[in-house]
Amino acid sequence: MFWDQESETLNRPALEAHQVKCLRDTVARVAARVPFYAGKLKEAGVGPEKIQAIQDVTRLPFTTGIDLRTIYPDGLLAVDAAETVRLHTSSGTTGKPKALFFSRRDVSNAAELIARSLVMTGITKADVFQNMMSYGLFTGGLVMHYGAEKVGCLVIPSGPGTSERQLMLMQDFGTTAVHILPSYALYFAAFLEQRGIKPGSLKVRKAFVGAEPHTEETRLRIEQALGLDVYNSYGLTEMNGPGVAFECEHKAGMHLWEDNFLMEVINPATGQPLPDGETGELVLTTLKREAMPILRYRTRDITSIIPEPCACGRTHRRIRRITGRSDDMLIIRGVNIFPQQIERVLMQCPQVGRNYLIIVEGLDDLTIQVELTPAGFDGTIENLNALKAQLMDKLKAEIWVRPAIELAAPGSLPVAEGKAKRVLDKRSL
Ligand code: ADP
Ligand code: ZN
Repeated sequence: MFWDQESETLNRPALEAHQVKCLRDTVARVAARVPFYAGKLKEAGVGPEKIQAIQDVTRLPFTTGIDLRTIYPDGLLAVDAAETVRLHTSSGTTGKPKALFFSRRDVSNAAELIARSLVMTGITKADVFQNMMSYGLFTGGLVMHYGAEKVGCLVIPSGPGTSERQLMLMQDFGTTAVHILPSYALYFAAFLEQRGIKPGSLKVRKAFVGAEPHTEETRLRIEQALGLDVYNSYGLTEMNGPGVAFECEHKAGMHLWEDNFLMEVINPATGQPLPDGETGELVLTTLKREAMPILRYRTRDITSIIPEPCACGRTHRRIRRITGRSDDMLIIRGVNIFPQQIERVLMQCPQVGRNYLIIVEGLDDLTIQVELTPAGFDGTIENLNALKAQLMDKLKAEIWVRPAIELAAPGSLPVAEGKAKRVLDKRSL
């Protein structure tokens, strides 16, 4: 099913011509209206006239998260303040957040991309859509909300709330689709199990999970535990929030809406573009943003482009599941490790429950606390020791470092409010 078939299936030459035109317009606008970019463009010796082909994007300067914090709050505005209608911020961990302004048209475009994304997975106006993401400054609430409303769904803005209340809303209003953090979906599955509620007794059929890195193994777990069809959804506040890239029914990578965002994958160390298919850092340029265009934003998210056409007929290229952020990478005894590698091993093991915590301390000592499922937690020392040894071996094979494993009772590890915190690196404290 298509929401906007023409835009979604535009042939590549037409799509690329559109990108070049939008890129040129964007460069012209920021050069004229945003002193921060005017200066950078001058330094790089590029103006709109130099943008003749897509490859010319590489002549433009990068924008980093640090830049966004430096020009906080409104240093990137390209319209009069009176033209802005919405503000979102990205939390970040320290210091000032990153502020993102939307014009009326930006708000409507963002909703349009969500509508495309949802309809691509089979959502229709008959669906009842429970948005379990936090409302407020975080984009996962409002941006998704207006997109689902645009499709015509009945949208329940439940927000994160308690599991009791989520369940009550699902039962009372016949929720058919949810938008949920993957870490919370695992938690919610455990909650239903505890309450003896069979997921099949609910009407929920689809889940959209995103906003934090998760593995294919986690998706499978959520699908099995909740009996749902789970789709990966990628976005970031700097680029509207959700609706940047989304899986279609084939679930083989996420279509990135290339008429709105120009994507590149670069080598994060050198800044050089990588050929399609190679893994590196995703860099995005807004093509239609009015209030706050951003050139070559370094997302720090690690992925690769799938250049092959998709069976669904959409021409917008796909990106592979994000394997982590470049700044999530842990260096332990000289080995580069992504938390996702650890998650993959853990989630393959049936005795492992929904939560884990990676702790690094001292001289690169790696400890992984692992919650068990109620069935996995059988209380026999021999079984627990055997499980520990098995996890250590499997992890060693995956990450080349043998971690210490601490098994924990179901539900005993701390649960973050909002996005899960999986790593505690005490070396940097
Ligand atoms: P914050 O930086 O405060 O977490 P955002 O809420 O804007 O701000 O989060 C965006 C980030 O969340 C992305 O850059 C990416 O790292 C992560 N993310 C979002 N969706 C996904 C996804 N589907 N898979 C993996 N990571 C994701
Ligand atoms: Zn597809």
